[in-house]
Amino acid sequence: MNKILLPLLCAAALVVSASFRTPAPQVHSCAPEWGFFGHKRINRMAVMTLPPQMMVFFKPNIDYLTDHAADPDMRRYAVNWEAPRHYIDLDEYQVAGKDYDLLWIDALLNNCQIKGVSVAGDTLLLYNKARRDTASAAAQDAWKSYFFKEVMWRFSSDDKTLNADSLSAFVRRQGMDVPAFTTVFFTETLSAHGILPWNLQQMQKRLTNAFREKDSKLILKICADIGHYIGDAHVPLHTTSNYNGQKTNQYGIHGFWESRIPELFADASYDYFVGKPEYIERPSTYFWNVIFESHKLVDSVLSIEWALRSAISADQQICPDVRQGKQVLTQCREFAAAYQANMRGMVERRMVAAIHAVASSWYSAWLDAGSPDLTEMDVKPALATDEEELKQKFENGKILGRPEEH
Ligand SMILES: [Zn+2]
Repeated sequence: MNKILLPLLCAAALVVSASFRTPAPQVHSCAPEWGFFGHKRINRMAVMTLPPQMMVFFKPNIDYLTDHAADPDMRRYAVNWEAPRHYIDLDEYQVAGKDYDLLWIDALLNNCQIKGVSVAGDTLLLYNKARRDTASAAAQDAWKSYFFKEVMWRFSSDDKTLNADSLSAFVRRQGMDVPAFTTVFFTETLSAHGILPWNLQQMQKRLTNAFREKDSKLILKICADIGHYIGDAHVPLHTTSNYNGQKTNQYGIHGFWESRIPELFADASYDYFVGKPEYIERPSTYFWNVIFESHKLVDSVLSIEWALRSAISADQQICPDVRQGKQVLTQCREFAAAYQANMRGMVERRMVAAIHAVASSWYSAWLDAGSPDLTEMDVKPALATDEEELKQKFENGKILGRPEEH
């Protein structure tokens, strides 16, 4: 008996590449809307598991939370800094022999550099990890506070400049003799491999604050967004640099796993039994664990598909099919059914875990904010959105940063 596999997906579309083993099919990118189905389902189902005190607010807004579950993917077409928030390449850290920084502040302190351009035109290094490591304990604390105040909120922005006057005053207080600067800015090496676990920590804090402020619009916006990122964290291929099988000649596997499989099998027989949300004591550890659990599955995702590619003749791997009224070339139904069966419900389990984690995140933020009475808020706020603009950029645009399969 085949359990049903549920939709779990990020980003867009199933793309079958010309590098998909022989014979080379034509590249085809499917309509984007379908790829958003999994995220929408996760947010919607998460609402259904909330306690009554939260349901009074979330139920009237369930359509908003559903409809906006894919906004973060659309933003990837609008701003450069969005893409790294959706993934982390854990294997890159393993290759470099680096430890993962559990907390966002430590990731920033260990992977950012601050430089100043002097009036004379020289570029001076003012901060990096090596310098901090040799500084006094007091200076290390001072840098930490500086990063909290000045760097953290600027990270997701295209503008990496810092206030030259306040930084000059700050480093002089540390005993550094520095010239007058025209520009001070930071550089970072985090985005290259993704920042998903730290993004989740930040979002959780922002959501808790929004509940404290009883800002119903902000609560909804952040709930929709964090639901998306938590969904991504449950997808194994969002935790590896081989995110689309490009390193193992399995190009197209990202869409195969998170789009084609759910498309074919999600509605046949599935079980959304998720249970009640749990209180998340330490969001940093919790979100990291989600990512580690996903990462453990990367080998299976790849090796099961590889075994099938080797066993099934090439002309039975890619077939013409109709999706949303359009003819496309995509993984054949039998090939997909075999992949689905051999994974033994993996996609469904990750989907159900994602729903539970999303509900738990919302629930924990509400509890941490002191369980505010949500009926005292504007329960059905009129939400002005940048949706139209995002949609337009999405439809016209090229994705910024990483390709869409990630
Ligand atoms: Zn995403």
